Amino acid sequence: MENSPIKAPTMTLTSGPVAIYPRVQEALSRPVPYDYDPYFQNIYEQVSIKAGRAMQSDQPALILHCEPAVAIEAMAASVIGPNDVVLNLASGVYGKGFGYWAARYCKRLTEVEVAYNDAIDPEQVAEALRANPDVTIVSTVHHDTPSGTINPAGEIGAVVKAHGALHLIDAVSSFAGMDIHPGDCAADVFVTGPGKCLGGSPGLSVLNVSEAAWRHMESNENAPRASVLSLLDWKNAWSKDEAFPFTPSVSEVQGLDAALDQYLQEGPEAVWRRHEVTARACRAGIKAMGLEIWPARDSIAAPSTTAVTIPGNLTTKQIHSAARQTYGVTLSAGRKDTYDKLIRVGHMGPVAEPIYALAAVAVFGAAVRQHGISVDVGSGIEAAMAEVSNGA
Ligand SMILES: *Cc1c(COP(=O)(O)O)cnc(C)c1O
Repeated sequence: MENSPIKAPTMTLTSGPVAIYPRVQEALSRPVPYDYDPYFQNIYEQVSIKAGRAMQSDQPALILHCEPAVAIEAMAASVIGPNDVVLNLASGVYGKGFGYWAARYCKRLTEVEVAYNDAIDPEQVAEALRANPDVTIVSTVHHDTPSGTINPAGEIGAVVKAHGALHLIDAVSSFAGMDIHPGDCAADVFVTGPGKCLGGSPGLSVLNVSEAAWRHMESNENAPRASVLSLLDWKNAWSKDEAFPFTPSVSEVQGLDAALDQYLQEGPEAVWRRHEVTARACRAGIKAMGLEIWPARDSIAAPSTTAVTIPGNLTTKQIHSAARQTYGVTLSAGRKDTYDKLIRVGHMGPVAEPIYALAAVAVFGAAVRQHGISVDVGSGIEAAMAEVSNGA
């Protein structure tokens, strides 16, 4: 580190990977146990059950030893077979991206696509299902992170179930930051991970899979086996009496355990609440400075990410480097279609606390001011503080 010319950030306000809780840090630094030692086999079973409980499921969670983008590709490869017609819902970069994976495995793909600052309307889903009665699978991204927008996964789930299709949900960046669980959105496969609102490290994925989805995978002749894209390989691995298909990421599992303890012991409602208050304060502060929030309406703005429209003809690099170099604060950029259109302030895990909203507003204001856009940072801070008092 001595030779490193780049100083580590003072504050990380990103949309993942995120700053982690101290107890996760401690867990990640523990000795690495042998995977077949009864000590670790027991931890693995307990963590799987605990993750299931956090998802309000009586099933142990399916843990995959890859970050969630890989798990989502694995979900596509495992569930979607050559007889499936997929309705993919795209309100952002992740939703659109899932369609490319789905297209690789399905018989036919159809999509509902909306502007990337908007959300899917469940009525559009019902309409698409009426027009395509042969749809067998619907895929939804709950929080399309590069837009900071939330889709109404619960209402969409009800429409999907009425049709009789399977519902695949990417809840990677919303689970544990708000009230969303597999049962709330009739999910057949629900994918999340420790590296966002759980305030853990990004190396694992945590899934909940319904009986119907397992049956579907088992009857999919193309479902991969002995592969990093196989969900079936890991189906029973949660049990301490079963073998692992390959070596699990033991340190990451210990980190996940600590992240789940943090979440369950603090209490999910309390955790969701501080995500919500922080995001509200951030939005209020940004708006009071005369800047704009990217989502079309506050009602679809995520509690775990505030996407701010880049003002004037400033660039991502200008805002990022002002925030990082002058204040040591790391923010997230947009991605693909939203790159250079917005900057994201993450409110995930340990930084989902109102004080970080005040910091974000100040730093954002300072960064745009440094590039010639005059904003009243004081008003931004006042508005953010007022929102914190309202929320308290
Ligand atoms: C973070 C995230 C993922 C995981 O993919 P990355 O490789 O971290 O981009 C998947 N889906 C969503 C919605 C996410 O926010």
